[in-house]
Amino acid sequence: MALDMTTEQREIVGMVRDFVEREIIPVAHQLDHDDVYPDAIVKQMKELGFFGFAISERYGGAGLDYSTYAMVCEEIARGWMSITGIINTHFIVSYLIEQFGTDEQKERFLRRMATGEYHGGFSMSEPGAGSDVQAIQTRAIRDNGEYVINGTKMWATNGDHSTVVATLVKTDPDARPPHRGMSCILAEKQYPGFFSSRKIEKLGYKGVETTELVFEDNRQPAANLLGGVEGQGFKQMMAAIEVGRVNVAARGVGVAQRAFELSIEYAQERQAFGQPIANFEAIQFKLADMATKIEAARLLTNFAARKKDAGERADVECGMAKLFATETCFEAVQEAMRVHGGYGFSKEYQVERLYRDAPMLVIGEGTNEIQRLIIAKGLLERYKLKS
Ligand SMILES: Cc1cc2nc3c(=O)[nH]c(=O)nc-3n(C[C@H](O)[C@H](O)[C@H](O)COP(=O)(O)OP(=O)(O)OC[C@H]3O[C@@H](n4cnc5c(N)ncnc54)[C@H](O)[C@@H]3O)c2cc1C
Repeated sequence: MALDMTTEQREIVGMVRDFVEREIIPVAHQLDHDDVYPDAIVKQMKELGFFGFAISERYGGAGLDYSTYAMVCEEIARGWMSITGIINTHFIVSYLIEQFGTDEQKERFLRRMATGEYHGGFSMSEPGAGSDVQAIQTRAIRDNGEYVINGTKMWATNGDHSTVVATLVKTDPDARPPHRGMSCILAEKQYPGFFSSRKIEKLGYKGVETTELVFEDNRQPAANLLGGVEGQGFKQMMAAIEVGRVNVAARGVGVAQRAFELSIEYAQERQAFGQPIANFEAIQFKLADMATKIEAARLLTNFAARKKDAGERADVECGMAKLFATETCFEAVQEAMRVHGGYGFSKEYQVERLYRDAPMLVIGEGTNEIQRLIIAKGLLERYKLKS
């Protein structure tokens, strides 16, 4: 790996790598094919403090910066991408609370999240609104000391296992532009009328559930309005999703890295025309292109994470990292399948799983078409001509 690491980063990444080699890689293939939630892995992750990685020490977490978090996500995704999905929404929510929550919300949620007692979920998307976030319909009406919420959310990763779901709702449907009437509610499952109604069957990204969420006259305490002020939800969510984009970019690097490792190993073992296929230039070029793009994706992901760590606006950098790393991954898994020939198409080989996992990355956390729009908008602002 091309990154310079501090001693602390080396230790944490090494610990995670050992865990992945020992506990995740040997079982990932079977759990994926059976589409089973990895309860035993999650239990150990709790014990080892994984759920506190990106939460401040003040609230019982490890206080990792996002650069280290990205390195950790890469290692986990190298073993099984679905495990990075389990922690992704968790740390999007912890970021939301640390950045924008009231002191009372920080005390109430973060300590429980750091131990893994509480799992965070993140919900913006709806059946009729994904890229067009401002078109959401879920409505929250304040009634005395509570919000009454009605609506349906879609594509909620960890929809069943999450305890608290940061949910984007409309508190003022007449606001113009619409985002000014949006708020984020830390919706807790303990209050009746909020439930996961069905699991969505997916091509890949198995084991971690993605569900529809329903709010039916659900009452959440007004104290669960993130930051205590209405109308801030859209901005809060957009800042938090950058944390998700760092995670997804790092996942792209991890899955691509695994595809590369499996390919270079296979290429030296597989014989054709009396020699290992690694002797053929056509195969060597694939390996060279994969490795080059993976290193570039890793550097770009690190660059974006460091920008987020600096507390600066990082929409362009996170967008670039997410775009490049996930497209690299998408390409790498296809190349890995070609290197494996017919065996790449067999369910007995790991490459088949990587091939089914990668497409999710170009869609989740904002499609790559939307990333290009974000990058271009940011660049046009930065390079605006002075009139
Ligand atoms: C496995 C999985 C897990 C997910 N987990 C979560 C989650 O935990 N929480 C959550 O809130 N969401 C989640 N999502 C939802 C995800 O964020 C959306 O799927 C994504 O934002 C795209 O929205 P959409 O599916 O409605 O597609 P649409 O917005 O309908 O887009 C369809 C196509 O049109 C393109 N398009 C749309 N608008 C434009 C435009 N202005 N310019 C150019 N092209 C455009 C898109 O790029 C895409 O190619 C998840 C999705 C998946 C697949």
